[in-house]
Amino acid sequence: MEQPSGSQQPAFERVSFVRPCVYCGARLAVFVSREAGSGETHNYECPECGKDYPVHAALEPLVSLLEPRTDGKDDRYMETLF
Ligand SMILES: [Zn+2]
Repeated sequence: MEQPSGSQQPAFERVSFVRPCVYCGARLAVFVSREAGSGETHNYECPECGKDYPVHAALEPLVSLLEPRTDGKDDRYMETLF
C-alpha cells in the first residue's frame, strides 16, 4: 500500500453496509471510505453476477460476499444495450 505524499491525513470516514443484489439475491457487505466535503461516485460489482452499483465514496469500494446468490442461476448480469 502506498501512502499519499501529503503530511495531512484526510479525514476518511469508513462506512459499511449490507445490501442485497437486486439481480441475483446475493448479500453483499460493502465498505466505503468517505471524505468530508468531497466525494465521487464509484461503482462496485456484485461478485456473483457482475451487476454494478454506484456508491458515493472517496475511494474504490470493497465488496465481500456474505451469502451466495439465491436465484439458482449462474448467469452474469448484462447491461441492456439498446
Ligand atoms: Zn448479483
